Amino acid sequence: MKVVVLAGGVGGARFLQGVKAALGMPAVGEPEEPSPHEVTAVVNVGDDVWMHGLRVCPDLDTCMYTLGGGIDSEKGWGRLGETWSVKEELAAYGAEPSWFGLGDRDIATHLVRSRMLRAGYSLTAVTEALCDRWRPGVRLLPVTDDRVETHIAIEDPEPRAVHFQEWWVRHRAEPAARAIVPVGADEAKPTPAVLDAVAEADVVLIAPSNPVVSVGTLLAVPGFREALRGTKARVVGLSPIIGGRPLRGMADACLSAIGVETTAEAVGRHYGSRQGSEEGILDAWLVHTGDTADVPGASVRAVPLLMSDVDSTAEMTRAAFDIAGVQP
Ligand code: GDP
Ligand code: CA
Repeated sequence: MKVVVLAGGVGGARFLQGVKAALGMPAVGEPEEPSPHEVTAVVNVGDDVWMHGLRVCPDLDTCMYTLGGGIDSEKGWGRLGETWSVKEELAAYGAEPSWFGLGDRDIATHLVRSRMLRAGYSLTAVTEALCDRWRPGVRLLPVTDDRVETHIAIEDPEPRAVHFQEWWVRHRAEPAARAIVPVGADEAKPTPAVLDAVAEADVVLIAPSNPVVSVGTLLAVPGFREALRGTKARVVGLSPIIGGRPLRGMADACLSAIGVETTAEAVGRHYGSRQGSEEGILDAWLVHTGDTADVPGASVRAVPLLMSDVDSTAEMTRAAFDIAGVQP
């Protein structure tokens, strides 16, 4: 079975672990084995940023480290056993930005990536090369090889725009976002690998990732939404909002910026259905037990959506396969 997953960082990475488990693929740390199934993650690039001359791709790296056993699982991002000598040395020079922590081990990843990008390789090719080491067991594809970066319009107190990372990491999403803009998206296109994966998928799953700055940025790349609307596969979304709140993180601050309520129903309606709307992408929408949603044109089912461990996340995946009518 060919499974395509739309993913951001931490939520996407955790979900991918469950998808692999549901397909009987080896867990982190288990030996690789051939599988009849194929998982392709289409990953957000809107958080990507140049820092100290290095290209940092937080969501791709979170997926890669998580599935490859290199993640700091306490924090959910960054490298296990990380040290911070470079950060301390940069601080001693007063080198800005000081609010973004690049760990020593992590920097090696960004060095390899930046060097390859400067040599002319695409982000897709660079990611594949990095994954040669981490062997995540799924194909990690940036949605585009073009530069798309999320910027946030804030008032501070004068109106200005900051990179998503500055708003999220430095300001903890505190100044209200007046607008969330995927800069460069208009000129970007999905990669051929992404379009092929969506066209050939047996099922497409939308991870319970941030609906605005993770999934929203994927959908902002012209042609990607159309590819989802055109695939023969059923498209199933899983709600990142449970009981009217995001789990970990500040997705509510992003949703209010685009005028969408922080409820599973509002996010489902924001994605919209393929049948019931002109731009919608869903055939089915899974919400957490106890939540309800009416998404015209999409089947809705309530199942446990807490990714407490890999088993419960695998169970969520099986529910998604079930409502899509596919069986691995
Ligand atoms: P980021 O890029 O690291 O912010 O991660 P993602 O965009 O992939 O995922 C962040 C989203 O994951 C947040 O909006 C959370 O609400 C959601 N999330 C985190 N843990 C869980 C969970 O256990 N269950 C569900 N349903 N959503 C979760
Ligand atoms: Ca992210």
